[in-house]
Amino acid sequence: MNAEIIAVGSELLLGQIANTNAQFISSELAEAGINVFYHSVVGDNPGRLETVIQNAQTRSNLIIFTGGLGPTKDDLTKETIAAVLGKQLVYDEEAMEGIELYYKRTGRTMTENNRKQALVLEGSAVLPNKNGMAPGMALEAGGITYMLLPGPPKEMRPMFRNFGITYLTAKLPGVEPIVSRVLRFFGIGESLLEATLQDIIDEQTNPTVAPLAGSHEVTLRLSAKFKDKHMAHVQLDLLEERIKERVGEFLYGYGETSLTETTAEYLKRSKLTVSSAESLTGGWFGQQMTELPGSSAFYKGSVVCYSNEMKEKLLGVSPDVLSSQGAVSPDTAKQMADNIRKLTGSDIGISFTGVAGPDKSEGKEPGTVFIGLSDKNGTEVFSLSLSGSRASIRERSIKHGLFFLLS
Ligand code: ATP
Ligand code: MG
Repeated sequence: MNAEIIAVGSELLLGQIANTNAQFISSELAEAGINVFYHSVVGDNPGRLETVIQNAQTRSNLIIFTGGLGPTKDDLTKETIAAVLGKQLVYDEEAMEGIELYYKRTGRTMTENNRKQALVLEGSAVLPNKNGMAPGMALEAGGITYMLLPGPPKEMRPMFRNFGITYLTAKLPGVEPIVSRVLRFFGIGESLLEATLQDIIDEQTNPTVAPLAGSHEVTLRLSAKFKDKHMAHVQLDLLEERIKERVGEFLYGYGETSLTETTAEYLKRSKLTVSSAESLTGGWFGQQMTELPGSSAFYKGSVVCYSNEMKEKLLGVSPDVLSSQGAVSPDTAKQMADNIRKLTGSDIGISFTGVAGPDKSEGKEPGTVFIGLSDKNGTEVFSLSLSGSRASIRERSIKHGLFFLLS
């Protein structure tokens, strides 16, 4: 199969958004062993879209569209494809029910425009949209496969991953499926991780190991290609074991689950509650915790105590400690963590105090950070010495805190 991706949307041409959909689809196709030879971008203009489709028909036998499936006037993708292929648009019962249900649930009134979203190309397989209203479509015509996906990434990605790829790989007899596993690490940089695993990375051809650096986190993607999926999983297990022997202490999770989500799941599973005392992080830790749905099960709240006065008055940090050792000190971190735990009756108290920079404070270097962790068995203070910008020091402190909660 020679694939081409056509992204439709004037906002892409105007530079208002980046074409991340094409990137996502390409990487999923590459993993499935399908070649992508062209990316095209075209505005919301039926004439020009028609030309792009006609071009694609001369050189590709899989054409994937993204964008322009919505209810508004400028959403013209399926109408234009219908015209080019000489097909009708017909109402899809299931999609219509889904849309009606959505309006009932949200108590909003449905307009005629929204009915348009249940129109699909005749003879197409409908790809369900679990995160929005416009269904996707896959269609065979004149030896070419057409696939239509919505524009919003949060709708398009799960649709393509869960339904689109399956539709396409089913058409490829004899292709060995790729089974992947993503390992997520924290507390070790990409280069050190790579250096520690260099011989493993080099000697692997199947399964393969590919490192990827994220925002202060590193992931390793392990991919195995075998006819027998079970065999692929066995090979991945063996490889994962070898990796864990060397860097297991930094491994915190798998797949798409972030460090915050992994920690939240752990707290929920263990039925533990947490509260935070935040100086350095100014409430950011609490913001991270409360961003997750259902966080009230494990997170009680935060006291933001930026000034010494607040540390003393609200949290009862001893004035002696503050004056003799400073706000950025192990004892302050300890008292903050202990006292927030007692104050709120949580199982765990966590505290953040440090110098975010760019200037020194109390004669201490930027990046000097103390994180206190208090539970009924005692208090532990972790001391960090981070480098980087103010924002990065604060963000990494939070991630370290989440990681300490896990371990
Ligand atoms: P809607 O029902 O939201 O109108 P749609 O299928 O009609 O969805 P568009 O109107 O083309 O899609 O795009 C909706 C939004 O999706 C855009 O404003 C943009 O934020 C995002 N989007 C569209 N195309 C892309 C793309 N190629 N890459 C990344 N984001 C995109
Ligand atoms: Mg739209």
